[in-house]
Amino acid sequence: MVLSIILIILAFVAIIVVKTILFKSKQESVSPVEPVAIDAEPVLARLSSAIRLKTISSQEQTASDLEPFLEFHRFLEQSYPQVHQKLKREVINQYSLLYKWPGSDESLKPVAFLAHIDVVPVEPGTEKEWRYDAYGGKIADGFIWGRGSMDMKATLTGLMEAVEELVGQGFQPKRTFYFAFGHDEEVGGNEGAAKIAEHLKNNGVKAEFTLDEGMVILNEDLSPTKKKLALVGIAEKGYVTLKLTVKTEGGHSSMPPSETALGTLCQAISNLETNQMPASLSGVVGQLFDYIAPEMTLVQKILLANRWLFKRLLLRQLTKTNSMNAMMRTTTAPTIIQGGVKENVLPSQAYALVNFRVLPGDTVSDVIEHAKKVINNPVVEIALHGRANGEASPISGLDTLGYRMISKTIRQLFPGTAVAPGLVMGGTDSKHYTSITENNYRFGPVIYGPDDPGRIHGTDERLSIEDYIKSIQYYIQFMKTVSSGS
Ligand SMILES: [Zn+2]
Repeated sequence: MVLSIILIILAFVAIIVVKTILFKSKQESVSPVEPVAIDAEPVLARLSSAIRLKTISSQEQTASDLEPFLEFHRFLEQSYPQVHQKLKREVINQYSLLYKWPGSDESLKPVAFLAHIDVVPVEPGTEKEWRYDAYGGKIADGFIWGRGSMDMKATLTGLMEAVEELVGQGFQPKRTFYFAFGHDEEVGGNEGAAKIAEHLKNNGVKAEFTLDEGMVILNEDLSPTKKKLALVGIAEKGYVTLKLTVKTEGGHSSMPPSETALGTLCQAISNLETNQMPASLSGVVGQLFDYIAPEMTLVQKILLANRWLFKRLLLRQLTKTNSMNAMMRTTTAPTIIQGGVKENVLPSQAYALVNFRVLPGDTVSDVIEHAKKVINNPVVEIALHGRANGEASPISGLDTLGYRMISKTIRQLFPGTAVAPGLVMGGTDSKHYTSITENNYRFGPVIYGPDDPGRIHGTDERLSIEDYIKSIQYYIQFMKTVSSGS
C-alpha cells in the first residue's frame, strides 16, 4: 500500500519534471538589425503638427467638429509629398483615408496597416492638470506631449514617415500595402473603419493580414517575466451591456412589502457578481502562458507547464488580479443604478446597467442566458442596452506570415525582447476587418512602463522621442521584411 502511494507520487513528480523540461522557449533566435538613421527634428515637428489638429471624436459631432479632419488630410498631403505621389489615395466617407501602394507581384496577398485619425476629448475640468497644453504637441523633457501622441497619431505619422523614407530610397514592395486611417475609432469605427473594410471587400481585396494598435512592449517593471515582453494582440474582447429593470407596486414607505424594486434589483446585481461567467486557462490566455512561461522563474514555469495538475490553484490565484481575471473570463461590471426620487416613497421602477466584456469563445447570447440563470427571478426584466454590443473577435493564428514577421522584426530591433500573443481588452478598428482577413494583429512598437497605460485617454499623454524614432525604424524594417516574406 505504502509502496504504491510512493510510486504514484514518484510518477507525478516525474511527469511534472518532464513537462517542465519539455516546456522550451518559443522565442526565435534572430540577429539584430542596424536600424535606418532618422533625422529626428523634422520628424518630430510633423508629429507635433498632427497633434495640434483637434480631430476629436464625440457622440454628438457637428460639421464644424469635423473640419479638423479635412485639415488633417491636407496636413498629410503637405508633409508626405512622396507618399502622395507614389501611392493612390481615396477618401472614404468624407473623413477617412485609404492609401494603396501597389506591389510588383500580384500573386502575393496585400497587407493592411491600420490607424485612426481621431482622438478622445480631454475630460472637461482636467485641462489645467496637463504639464503642457493637451493639443500643443510640445516637445520637451525627451517626450512629445499631447492627445494622440500614444493613441494613435504617432502610429499614423510613423507609418507615413516609413513610407516616405522607403519611397525616397527607391524601394518598391513586392506585396501591395494598404494604409487605412479611420476617423471615428473612438466611437466605434462604424463610419470609418467599417466603411473602409466594406470598400476593400467590395473590391475583392483579400488581405494576408492587418496590423493595428492594441498591445505594446512592456518594460521590465510592467512585464510578468521581468524582462522586456512584446505582446501581440491576436483577439479582442466583445462588449455587451444589459439593462436590468424591476417594476413593482410603488407606494408609501411606511408599509413596505417584503420585496421592493431596489432590493430585488440589488439582489440581481449581487447574484451576477457572485456567480461570474467561468474563468479559463485555455484560449488566448493559454497561448500567452505557452509563450511567457519558459521565460519565467522555475516555480512559475513548473506551475504553468503543468496546468493539467495545478489548474484549480492557478485559477484561484490568477483571478485575484483584475487584469489577469479580465484575460481569463467574461467580466461583469455594474456601472449605473437608478431608482427612487423621494426618501419616503417606494420607487415603482428601478433599473441598472451591467457591462460585460465578452471573452473570445463566449457569445452575447451566452451572457444573456447566464444572466437569466443566475438572477433567476422573472420580476427582473433583462434587455440589451445601447448600440455598442458586439461579439468577441475571432482568434488569429500564430503560424501565419503576419505573426511571424511582427515577431521577427521585434526581435531584430528590440534584441532580448520576448514576444507573446495577447488578448486586447478594449475594442479596436481591427474588428471591422475580419471580412477581408482572419489574421488581425494588434501591436505597436513602443515600450510602456507602469505609469503609461493611465496616460491613454487620460492626462499627460506623451510618447518618448526615442520610442517614436524606434517605431519608424520598426515600420521601415517591417515593410521591407513583409514585402517579400512568405
Ligand atoms: Zn486608439
